[in-house]
Amino acid sequence: MAADKADIGLIGLAVMGQNLVLNMTDHGFKVAVYNRSRQKTDEFIAAEPDNEKLFPYFDLESFVAGLSAPRKVMLMVKAGEVVDLFIDQLVPLLEEGDIIIDGGNSLYTDSNRRTAELKDKGIYFIGSGVSGGEEGARHGPSIMPGGNPLAWEAVKPIFQSIAAKADEQPCCDWVGDGGAGHYVKMVHNGIEYGDMQLIAESYHLMRYGMGLAADECQAVFAEWNQGVLDSYLIEITAEILKFKDEGGEPLVDKILDAAGQKGTGKWTGISSLELGMPVTLITESVYARCLSALKDERIKAEAHFGKPSAPPSLGEQEKSELLNAIHDALYASKIISYAQGYMLMTEAAKEFAWSLNYGAIALMWRGGCIIRSTFLGEIKAAYEKDPQLTNLLVADFFTSALKDADANWRKAVIFAIQQQIPTPALSSALAFFDGYKTANLPANMLQAQRDYFGAHTYERVDAPRGTYFHTDWIQSG
Ligand code: NAP
Repeated sequence: MAADKADIGLIGLAVMGQNLVLNMTDHGFKVAVYNRSRQKTDEFIAAEPDNEKLFPYFDLESFVAGLSAPRKVMLMVKAGEVVDLFIDQLVPLLEEGDIIIDGGNSLYTDSNRRTAELKDKGIYFIGSGVSGGEEGARHGPSIMPGGNPLAWEAVKPIFQSIAAKADEQPCCDWVGDGGAGHYVKMVHNGIEYGDMQLIAESYHLMRYGMGLAADECQAVFAEWNQGVLDSYLIEITAEILKFKDEGGEPLVDKILDAAGQKGTGKWTGISSLELGMPVTLITESVYARCLSALKDERIKAEAHFGKPSAPPSLGEQEKSELLNAIHDALYASKIISYAQGYMLMTEAAKEFAWSLNYGAIALMWRGGCIIRSTFLGEIKAAYEKDPQLTNLLVADFFTSALKDADANWRKAVIFAIQQQIPTPALSSALAFFDGYKTANLPANMLQAQRDYFGAHTYERVDAPRGTYFHTDWIQSG
C-alpha cells in the first residue's frame, strides 16, 4: 500500500546513518533502513520500539520496493568502492527518475563520475557532504548537496527539514553540479584542519611559550569564545582544557601528541596544487599532523638539538599584551585561511564549470558543522554585498580586521620564533598575507634563473604581457 511506503531509504546503519535516520523520523519522514550486516539493523530497531516511522529491510529488493516514487536511496557507508558496490546493486532495482544520494565523505572526482554514469542510466545522483559528526547528524547537520540538479526538488524538503538552522535558515542548499557538494565539503574539512591547527598553535604559545597553566589557558579560550572568535572549536578547546583525568591532572597532558587524519585535508592540499591556488594554511596544517606523527624522531631530535627556550618571566601587563597578540594572530590567520579556501572553491568552480553561491556556502557552514562560528556570518554578508567579490581579503570588513590585527600578528609570530615554538599556520598565513599584498615579488629572479638554465623565457615589465624574451646569460669577458 502506497501509504505504507517510506519517504526515503537509508543504507548504512553505522553512527552517521543511525543518527540521520532518527533525525528524519523526528521530522515526520518515514524511513526504510538497510544494513549489510543484519545484526546492526536488528539492534537499531530494537532500540527504537515506539518509532513507527522506521521500516527495516533485510534484502535490497524489498527495501527498494518499500519506497515511494521517485525512490530516494541515501548511502551512509564507508566512502570509496563500497559506494560503487551499492550503486551497482541498486541500479537494476530502480526506475528512471529515481535518486541515489551518497552522504559519505566521498572524493569529489568520484561524485563527478557517478553523476555522469548514473545520468546515462536515467538515475539522478546526489553527492552530498554531511558535517557535524554524530551530534550534528542526530540534531541538525550542515548538508552540502551537489550532483544532478533534477534530483534536488524531491530531496530538498527532507534535507532542509533535518539540517541545522542558522538565522532561522537551513544550513543546506543546492551547491552545484556533479561533485560540487563533495568538493565544498572537502574544503570545509580542510578549513577545519586549519582552524584546529591555529587553535593548537595558540595553545602551544600560551602553555609552553608563556608558561601558563592549563586552567589559565582554559580561561583565555572561554573569554575568546565571547568575542570575534566565538566558534564551536574554541568552545570545545576550553572544555577540553577544563577536563581532569583520574589523578586530577588535565587529561590533555596525557594525550600522545601524534595526530591522525582521514584524508580530506590532504585532498584539499592536493586539489590546491592541481589548481595552482596557494592554500598554504590548510596544507601546512596537514603537514603539521604529519610532523606530529614522527614522535620517535622528534624525541631523538630534541635530545640532539636541545630543548626549546624556557618561558620568559612575564609581568601581568606583558602577559596581557602577549595574549592579545596571540588572539589577533589567530583571528587574522583564520581570515587568511577562509580567504584561501574561497580562492580554491572559486578556481574549482571555473575548472569544473560549477556555479557556486559563495554566500550560501557560508550560511551552510554557519550551523551544524565543526567549523560553525559567528565569523561565517561576516563572510555571507561580504558576498551578499558584492557577489562578484574577487577575494575576501579586500572586502571592507576583513580588510579593516587585518589592518587592526597586523602589529599584534607580527608580535605573536616574533614571540614564537624567539621561544622556538613552531607555528606553521600562524606564520605561513602572515607570509601569504605579505605576499598577496606585495606588488613586486622576487619571481623576476626565478624567471631569470629558469631562463638561464633552461631557456624557459620570461616576460618583461616594459613589454606587453604574452611577449616572451630569452637571453644568452653567459656573457664572454
Ligand atoms: P563508516 O564506519 O564509515 O561505515 C560503516 C558502514 O559502511 C556500515 O554500515 C558498514 O556495514 C558499511 N560497510 C563497510 N564496508 C562495507 C562493505 N564492504 N560492504 C557493504 N557495506 C559496508 O560509518 P560512519 O562513521 O557512520 O560514516 C558513514 C559515512 O559518513 C562515511 O563516508 C564517513 O566518512 C562519513 N562521515 C562520517 C562522519 C563521522 O563523524 N563518523 C562525519 C561526516 C561524514 P556493516 O555494518 O555491515 O559493516
